[in-house]
Amino acid sequence: MNGTETATNYEALTAEVLIEQVVHEAARATVCLTNSFQTEDMVVLHMLRQHLPNVPVIFLETGYHFKELIAYRDKMTAEWGLNLVNAIPLTTLAEHEAEFGLLHIVQPMECCRIRKVEPLMRSLEPFDWWFTGLRREQSPTRAGLRKVEDHKTPTGRQMKKVSVLADWTMAQVDEYAVAHGIPKLELYTRGYTSIGCEPCTAIPDAGADVRSGRWGGKKLECGIHTFSEKV
Ligand code: SF4
Repeated sequence: MNGTETATNYEALTAEVLIEQVVHEAARATVCLTNSFQTEDMVVLHMLRQHLPNVPVIFLETGYHFKELIAYRDKMTAEWGLNLVNAIPLTTLAEHEAEFGLLHIVQPMECCRIRKVEPLMRSLEPFDWWFTGLRREQSPTRAGLRKVEDHKTPTGRQMKKVSVLADWTMAQVDEYAVAHGIPKLELYTRGYTSIGCEPCTAIPDAGADVRSGRWGGKKLECGIHTFSEKV
């Protein structure tokens, strides 16, 4: 930035304008989106594809997902012609369970580290800009989220983390999905409000935080949004 330029106030920009701004700023940089195939991520992907149709879509293939989620991932990947990047753990599920048993029950943090965080860190290495579908109202751990944050991974990789829906409500997300004909993952109709690995996902109590059905309420984050340091 030279003496006459001022820093962009990302917080003041709408999601669509922020995406345009970031795509412009990242013209010579590498950009990706992490996508759990929940509605927020599909909305961000829908917006991003207007500018970057071949954007890498990183999915954490833990081996523990609902079969319905995998079917939805494959259907949307085929219909939208996605550049899907499955982030695979270093061990197969069979190897993991042979070594640790049901680690997700006894040590969910360690299970998430092995099957989500480590594969994500490897997958993010080539990228300068990382789009997410995070929203502030999803849980108390996300209340302070900024739309654009500078992050550093444990390997020293610096990147910009972009959450264009930070100030959106779930109703806005659903409205956008309906308005743009984005099909919804069928598991939502059964009462799930935040969907991750099957053994660690339950239907939350009425009126509870959307992520309260994850990990039996024992934790709120798997670690993929806390492993990098905000700088
Ligand atoms: S969400 Fe559960 S099953 Fe999935 S990686 Fe984390 S602890 Fe393991």
